[in-house]
Amino acid sequence: MDAVASCVKPVHRHRIWNYLIHHMDTQKNEDTTDKSWHEVLPYDSWSVPRAARDAIAEKFVHFTTKVVERQDSARGDTTKLLIQLQDGHLIETVIMQHHHYRTVCLSSQIGCKMGCKFCATGTMGIIGNLTAGEILEQVVHANAISKIRNIVFMGMGEPMNNMDALCTSLDFLVDTRLFSLSPRHITVSTVGVVKNMRRLTDEYPTVNLALSLHAPNQEVRLKIVPSASAHKYEDLMLELAHRIAAWTANDKGYKLGPAQFGEAENSASDRSSNKLTRNFKKHVNGAGVMIEYILIKDINVLPEHAHELGKVLSSRREEVLLNLIPYNPTDIAEDFEPPTQESIDEFVRILISDQYRIHTRVRHEKGQDIDGACGQLVVQTNKKNSKAKSVDIEDTVKGGKKSNRRTELGGTSSVAKGQKYSFLSIHGVVTVASIGMFAVSAIRGA
Ligand code: SAH
Ligand code: SF4
Repeated sequence: MDAVASCVKPVHRHRIWNYLIHHMDTQKNEDTTDKSWHEVLPYDSWSVPRAARDAIAEKFVHFTTKVVERQDSARGDTTKLLIQLQDGHLIETVIMQHHHYRTVCLSSQIGCKMGCKFCATGTMGIIGNLTAGEILEQVVHANAISKIRNIVFMGMGEPMNNMDALCTSLDFLVDTRLFSLSPRHITVSTVGVVKNMRRLTDEYPTVNLALSLHAPNQEVRLKIVPSASAHKYEDLMLELAHRIAAWTANDKGYKLGPAQFGEAENSASDRSSNKLTRNFKKHVNGAGVMIEYILIKDINVLPEHAHELGKVLSSRREEVLLNLIPYNPTDIAEDFEPPTQESIDEFVRILISDQYRIHTRVRHEKGQDIDGACGQLVVQTNKKNSKAKSVDIEDTVKGGKKSNRRTELGGTSSVAKGQKYSFLSIHGVVTVASIGMFAVSAIRGA
C-alpha cells in the first residue's frame, strides 16, 4: 500500500480526488461502484502518468459505497440515503434543506457503543468504524443530489470514538483544493469523549463542537447516558471551558449563530419560545459550543432541572447556544415519552429568564416521517433485532457474516484479500508524516 501511495504523487492524488469529488455532481448520483476507472473518469482527462494510473487502477476503486435507497420527506425538505458499504453493511445519511442552503448529517460509525438509552443507533451496539473514505463518500453522494454547504456529524455513531477517520475527513472537507468547506460550517457532535474533545479543540479550533449534555448534573445524566460513568460531568465542563478559551483566542469578531451549526433558523412555531436566540448573533462574540439537551418526559425536563442547568450554563452564556431536542419516539426505548408542550415552554421560560439568560432554542425537527430525525437513524434490518447483544448484531446486517474489517476499531488495518482500496481513503492531505497513519481503509467483500 505504501508503495502504491508513494508512486501516486500528492499532485496526482489531488487531481483525482477533485475529479471524484466534483464528477458525481454531474452524474446525478449514478451508481458507479461497478464501473472501471476509465468508464467513470476517461483516462485522457486525468493528466497523470501512466505508471500512476496503472497502480491506481490495480489497487483502488473510485468509490466503495453506493446509494441503495433514497427517501424524501413529504414536506420535501429532508432526504435520507441508505448507503451500502463495500462489505455489505448499511449506513444512513440525511440531507436537510434549509432556507437557502443544505446540510448533510453524516454517519461516523456503524452503530454506536455508547448505548444512550433514548437513541435508536445506540441500541444497535457497535459494529464498526467508518473509514475516512466512507465518511467522505457520503458527502459526495449528498452533493450529487444537492450542493452541500454545511456538515454535521450527527448521524449514526460517536465521531469521537473514530477520531483518526474524523480528523482525516475534516482535513479533506476544509482543504480548499478539495471539498473547500468552511470549518465554521462543520459541526462535530459528541456525547463527550474527554481526551478527543481536547484534540478537536487543539487541532481544529474553528470547527464547531456540539456537546450532547442532556442533563443538568451527573446523576441525571447517568440515568440516560451510560458513558457518563467514564466521562464525568465536571470533566466535560472543564473541556467546555478550554474550548471556549480557544474560541475566544481565535475569534476575529466572527458572530456565530444557529446557522453556523447547520441548523435551520427558527420556524414560526418556535419563535415565541426562542426570542433570545433570535438576537443571538447580536449578542454573542465568538461563541464556542452548542449544548444539545434532549427533553424526555419526567426524566430531565422538570423546572428544577431547568434551574440547575441555568446555573451551570449562565457563567458561559455568551459562548453557549443551548439546543433543546424534544425526544423523538423510536420504537426501541418504550419507557420514554416526549415532553408535553407546556413542560417545554416552562423549561425554556426558566432558562431565558433574567435569572439565567441562556441562548436557547428548541430544535425544529425535520424528516420525522422518514425516520431521518435525531435518534431515528438505525438501519431497519437491525431494528427487529434490537434486543440482541451487540456482539451478535452484525449477523443481522445485510451480508450476514461477521466482518473482519471491523476489527480495525481503534487502529488501522489492511485491505482484505481480493478487495481494493477507496481512493478517498489515502491520507496525504495535510502532512507527509501523516501518510500511512491512516493510509487505507480496510475493505472486505460481502
Ligand atoms: N454520537 C453523537 C452524534 C450522533 S447523535 C452524539 O451523541 O452527540 C446526534 C444527536 O441526536 C445527539 O444530540 C443525540 O443525543 C440526539 N438524539 C439521539 N436519540 C434521540 C432521540 N430519540 N430523540 C431526540 N434526539 C436524539
Ligand atoms: Fe451513540 Fe450519540 Fe446515539 Fe449516544 S446519542 S448512542 S453517543 S449515536
